[in-house]
Amino acid sequence: MEYTNLGRSGLMISKMSFGSWVTFGSQVDLSASKKMIKTAYDAGVNFFDNAEVYANGESERLMGQAFKDLDFGRDTYTVSSKVFWGGEKPTQVGLSCKHIRDACDAALKRLQVDYLDLFFCHRPDVYTPVEETVNAMSDLVRSGKILYWGTSEWGAQALTEAFGIAEKYNLVKPTMEQPQYNIFERDKVEGDYSPLFKTFGLGTTIWSPLASGLLSGKYANGIPKDSRVTLPGYEWLKARFESEEGAKKIEQTVRLGHIAKKLGTTLPRMSIAWCLKNPNVSSVILGASRVEQLEENLKSLADVKLLDGHVMEEIESIVQNKPKAQSDFR
Ligand code: NDP
Repeated sequence: MEYTNLGRSGLMISKMSFGSWVTFGSQVDLSASKKMIKTAYDAGVNFFDNAEVYANGESERLMGQAFKDLDFGRDTYTVSSKVFWGGEKPTQVGLSCKHIRDACDAALKRLQVDYLDLFFCHRPDVYTPVEETVNAMSDLVRSGKILYWGTSEWGAQALTEAFGIAEKYNLVKPTMEQPQYNIFERDKVEGDYSPLFKTFGLGTTIWSPLASGLLSGKYANGIPKDSRVTLPGYEWLKARFESEEGAKKIEQTVRLGHIAKKLGTTLPRMSIAWCLKNPNVSSVILGASRVEQLEENLKSLADVKLLDGHVMEEIESIVQNKPKAQSDFR
């Protein structure tokens, strides 16, 4: 495993981390969760990602129980939660001071920990002043309930506003953002955020490195049984995979698979290595419904060296989706 500073913080985070969206509490029970967490931890993963909304809190309950049973030293791993979708009542949603505080307390209980290492605003909340959110997060840091706060899928402008408010009122600045990033989805990380890395030293823990499994290549011959898109509640993802755009991407995975084969690796490993190669990515959050998938994906770091300029160009020529960086407009 390799480690890097998360943004401008002193926290050394593993380049690959492990998350529980979709899987924990639906595809994966406590015993399998423990196996996966231990596999990741033994490979050097020190960041485990979660959110209040994952399986309506069940994902955090499982992860918390797994940590307790596995008895890892609390000083050897980091764990996150995210606040936004906490329930159906008006006070259980969004980034108000109230929901942020309630969500943090509830996550601490479910995860059975005294503090959260990372706490993310899961989406921007246009109904709450950014100032209120920055203040609430800052208070949580100062009270010791969380160590670092960040955002997920915020726009560059809202992020800039958050940094400005923190600077002006001497509040705690965000450390990291959690955007989607993979061979098919590059706009935020390579486009919108490009000035923020330099200006604010923003760290990133990126999600869906395999585009929900599409970049494993397993959808090339139809939808496999037991795959994510066959799960109840994920009909929207199935529709996306079956759309014209989805069909185009699946065809591209076949061609990307040929490159991986030539390199002597697999498409999932090459796709994760592609994310790892970006220096603005602090940690790639892996997802897996089976321990074998996780074992394979954890080998990806070794493949980064295979992705030289020529291979990167070959990949580019297939997907042709390189976004313009902000600097390209000047
Ligand atoms: P991926 O895009 O890597 O998808 C993971 C899924 O792909 C697995 O659950 C499995 O699904 C399939 N898969 C993984 N590896 C393989 C393999 N080697 N061979 C075949 N199939 C494979 O990541 P996720 O979408 O799961 O995202 C990772 C994490 O990021 C989440 O757990 C969560 O912590 C975070 N996240 C954050 C979001 C945010 O808004 N901040 C949004 C989404 C995720 P299956 O076997 O069921 O087909």
